[in-house]
Parts: sequence; structure tokens; C-alpha cells
Amino acid sequence: MATEELLTDENPDGPLAAALTQLDEAARLIGLDDAVYQKLRKPKRVMTVSVPTRMDDGTLRVFTGYRAQHNMDRGPCKGGIRYHPDVNVEEVMARAMWMTWKCAVVNIPYGGANGAVICNPKEMSEGELERMTRRFTTELVEVIGPEKDIPAPDVYTNPQVMAWIMDTYSMQKGYSVPAVVTGKPVALGGSLGREAATGRGCVFTIREAMKRLGMRMEGASVAVQGFGNVGGWAARLLQELGPKIIAASDSTGGCFNPDGIPAEELVAHKARSGTVVGFPGTDEITNEELLALECDVLIPAALENAIHAGNVANVSARIIAEGANGPTTPAAQEVLNDKGVFVIPDILANAGGVTVSYFEWVQGLQAYFWSEDEVNEQLEEIMVRAFDEVYAEHAERGCDMRAAAMAVAVGRVAEAVHVRGIYP
Ligand code: NAD
Repeated sequence: MATEELLTDENPDGPLAAALTQLDEAARLIGLDDAVYQKLRKPKRVMTVSVPTRMDDGTLRVFTGYRAQHNMDRGPCKGGIRYHPDVNVEEVMARAMWMTWKCAVVNIPYGGANGAVICNPKEMSEGELERMTRRFTTELVEVIGPEKDIPAPDVYTNPQVMAWIMDTYSMQKGYSVPAVVTGKPVALGGSLGREAATGRGCVFTIREAMKRLGMRMEGASVAVQGFGNVGGWAARLLQELGPKIIAASDSTGGCFNPDGIPAEELVAHKARSGTVVGFPGTDEITNEELLALECDVLIPAALENAIHAGNVANVSARIIAEGANGPTTPAAQEVLNDKGVFVIPDILANAGGVTVSYFEWVQGLQAYFWSEDEVNEQLEEIMVRAFDEVYAEHAERGCDMRAAAMAVAVGRVAEAVHVRGIYP
């Protein structure tokens, strides 16, 4: 299917339609030049590749893979690779566009990309995954690279997959190229501090928001939906600053104690038992009950569309910090605005991960590695500056923080497009 056809998106409720609507709104808000707007609506490049893979039983499976590169005006593309049975090219294109805005909000010199292979990694052996990854990398070898497009982990890909991509790319080039991917194992040049980076960045934005809203950190109540990497780290680091975690959940349910739950011990409990449910001294609650808890800060850190038209009326938080990508639907955002809830949007609240990925790339290019303290300090500087810039836009335009973040991001990319001009 041609990109042109894809952009008329057959699914009006799909992620690509949503991404285009968000761009339209930002374009209206900042009075975007029409030529730049037309360019930014379309990805620079979308590749569809066949990935023939020898399975363990000797048969051949031909998987389909995608890589969409939305924009390269501010630097090489950056974005995850997802292995999932239900992915499609429209959502890959949407995620690539969102990555452009996320990188621009924190002002790191990247455009956005995203990739995927339609497969079910839960049903594949390690050897099958490795062979599929190596062939997928080979199919993309001309369009990825440290100066072109730098993949990273996403759903069901991990540091091991990144290591295979790095090795395959390096074998093709004839020398080691660690900066071709981020999210690598530390033994291969992965960055210290990467694991906690998204949760840590989220905590910096919450701290800044609470300052602006005149809220006290000490004893503030926090509920976390999705106690995984992002939610677990955000809870641990936030607790160190004074707030108490009153509830947490995962896909199996949640736990609640209005007096506070020690986050570190909850992480250990989940590691042992596979769930946050049943933590000593807590009551069991459902995910829907967690979202309705009266609290100072709610961190949705699980999946898309967690807060929607059907449950937003019950939300009783003062601040929502979007650790997950796309946890609030557009209809729910409108209701939250009416209720006066301060939403720190995903492209700002969870940008700490891509920021430390950027540090990993810089370290790889220089072959010089930073201490974890240095990584965390630089992350704090970037997150606080990004928060301040988005907050200033929000105050000046009188719009919500999501619209403000989009205005900052689209404005930055538009300026780069404008000063570069259209080639030839
Ligand atoms: P993860 O797999 O480590 O954790 C996800 C958690 O959510 C798990 O505890 C899981 O049990 C829980 N969960 C799943 N379905 C749920 C449901 N229906 N209700 C409640 N909980 C549910 O993943 P992660 O890396 O923490 O990512 C979480 C979100 O953050 C995703 O939206 C991801 O795209 C986004 N994100 C992650 C990063 C990163 O660096 N890891 C960066 C940016 C954005």
C-alpha cells in the first residue's frame, strides 16, 4: 500500500488518525506555515520488508517488518522496535511521529522513528528470535545507523535484541558500531542510569509541577497504575522526596493503604510473587478503583487509553503524570481540563528514557562513558528545562500542558524545516 493511501487512514479511531489530529491542533495553535505543515503530516520514509526466518523445526516463516522514519530535520531518527502479533504499519507511522515530538520537547537532536515485526515472540525460541532479528536488521542496514536512525527497545524487545542488532550491523560494516542502537547491555556500551531513566524523568516533572501548583511534597499521596519499569522506578524515587505511595497496580489487580506502602519492598514483593496484590498491610483494589482514588498525583504507567470517557468522571487526582504513552484519550483530556486536573503529557513526562538513550548514543560515539551521577544530573537539567519551557507556553497561551508541549515540539521542528528549506 502506498504511503499516500495510508495517510487517508481507513481507521478514524486509529493511532495515525489521532496523531494527525494532534498535529492539526498544534498547527492551528501556533499558526504553522502551510508548506511546513504539509511536510510534517507525512513520514520521510516507510519501509516494509520481508523477514524470512528458519524456524527450529526446519520450516521457513516469512515475517513482515516495518520501519517508519517520520522526520530527520533536527538530526537522525530515534525510536523503538516492537515485536507483536497485532502491530500494523499505521500505528508504526503514528509512533514515529510521536517520537519526533517527544525528542523535540526535550530538545535533543533527533527526529522520530518506529519499527515493528509482526510476530508472536512468546511462541518463538531464543534462536528463532535471534535469526529473525538478524535478518530484519540486514533488511534495514541501508536506512539505519548512528547518523541515520538509531533503534531502541519497545514492547517485547530488550537489551539482548539490541545486542543482536548491533552485532549484525557491525558485521555488515566490518567494524563495531555501538551507537547504532540504544538500550544495549552495559557490557556493550549501554548507559548507566538507563533502566531508571523514564521513572526518574517522570519524577522530575512531578516535582516541578507540584512546585508550580504550590503543593507540598511531604506526605502527598500518589497512586501508580502499572507497577513495572516506569511505575516502579517513579514510585521509588518519588517516595524519597517525601510523598507516600498509597496504591499501586499491575495487570492482575492492585493494593491500597492510605498510610503509604514502602515502594522498595513492594518491588521486591512483585519480583517474588509476580504481582503487587497481597502486599502485607494493604487492601486489594481493582485498577478502576485505583484510578478513582482521591490523591495528589496519579501516575498511569501501564497501557494506552487507561483514562477514557467512561471512567474520567471518577478521577480525583490533582496531577496526572503520564508515565505510559497515550494513557488519556482526547475525550477524557477535555473532561480533565474542565475538572482542573493538571496533566503532564506523555511526550514530556516519559521523555527521560529517550533522553538517556541520547546520552548512550553520545557516549558510544565518543567511546567515553559517564558515571551514573553524571547521567542523572544531565537528565535532571534537560527535564527541568523542558518542563519550564512547556509550562511557560501553557501559561502564555492559556492552553493545557499537552497542547503546550505539542506547540513547543512542532514549533521546534517547523523552525528546523524552515531554515533548512526544501531540497532542491
Ligand atoms: P513494563 O512491562 O515494565 O510494565 C508495565 C506494567 O503495567 C506491568 O507491571 C504490567 O503488569 C502492568 N499492566 C499491564 N496491563 C495492565 C492493565 N491493564 N492495568 C494495570 N496494569 C497493567 O513496561 P514499562 O517499560 O514500564 O512501560 C510502561 C509504559 O510506559 C508503556 O506505555 C510504555 O510505552 C511507556 N514508556 C516506557 C518507557 C521505558 O523506558 N520503559 C519509556 C517511555 C514510555
